[in-house]
Amino acid sequence: MGHDHTRTERLDLADATLREWDATVLDVDPDGIVLDRSAFYPGGGGQPPDHGVLLWGGVQTRIVGTRRGDDLRLVPHEDDPVPVAGTAVRGAIEDARRTALMRTHSGLHLLSGVVFRDFGALVTGGNMEPFEARMDFNLPEVPPGFKEAVAEACAAEVAADRAIEVSTLPREQAYQIPDIIRTATNLLPPDLEVVRIVDIVGLDTQADGGTHVASTRQIGDIEVVKVENKGKGFRRLRIRIRP
Ligand SMILES: [Zn+2]
Repeated sequence: MGHDHTRTERLDLADATLREWDATVLDVDPDGIVLDRSAFYPGGGGQPPDHGVLLWGGVQTRIVGTRRGDDLRLVPHEDDPVPVAGTAVRGAIEDARRTALMRTHSGLHLLSGVVFRDFGALVTGGNMEPFEARMDFNLPEVPPGFKEAVAEACAAEVAADRAIEVSTLPREQAYQIPDIIRTATNLLPPDLEVVRIVDIVGLDTQADGGTHVASTRQIGDIEVVKVENKGKGFRRLRIRIRP
C-alpha cells in the first residue's frame, strides 16, 4: 500500500533520483491509469506533476499529468494507446523537467530559509515551474537593499553546499521541531501518522512531500528577479534558477 491511502506505491517519495522502473497496470478508466508502483510526482506543495512515458508491448503512452482522487491516476496523452489492467509496463520520468523542478523546489526552500533567518518573514504561498518560481512572504517593511541582500545570502548558501536530507518522523516528534510548519498552506492532514521532513541542514527544516536535490550546490545559481509589493505586508519574490 502506498501513501495517501491509494493503491500505488510512491517510489518518488523514497528516491528522488529514480527515473525508470517496472510496474503493473492495476486499473484504467477515463480519468487515467493506476500503477502498482510509480515514481511520477503527482503534484502538490507548489511542485507541478511529472511528465514521462509508459513503455509496453512495443509502444509508448506519454503521461502528461496526474489526477488525485481515491487513487493516483496518470493522465495519458489523448493520441496514444493505453495499456489494459494487468499489463506489465516500464515507467520513465522525463528527466530534464523533473531535475529542473527538483532544483527549483530546493531553491525555494533555500530562499524561504534565508528570508526567515535574515528578515524573520513567514511564507504565505508559492508556486514553481521548471527554473522559475515565486514565493510570497509576510514582510511589513522592505528594508533598503533587501533584494541584493537576499541574492547575496542565497549565493552564499548555494556555495556552502549544505546537505539536503529527506526523512520521515512520527507526527508527534515532527511537531517538536521549531518552525517546521512555517507556511499557512503547509498544514498537515489530521490523519497523517508520519511526516516527511526535508532538511537543508543548518538552514531550513520543513514538512514537505516534494522532490529535492541532494545538496544546495546542485540547485545552481539563484537569481532574485523581482520583489513585488502586493499590498499590506504582502511581498512576492520571483526567482530564476540558471538552467
Ligand atoms: Zn516544498
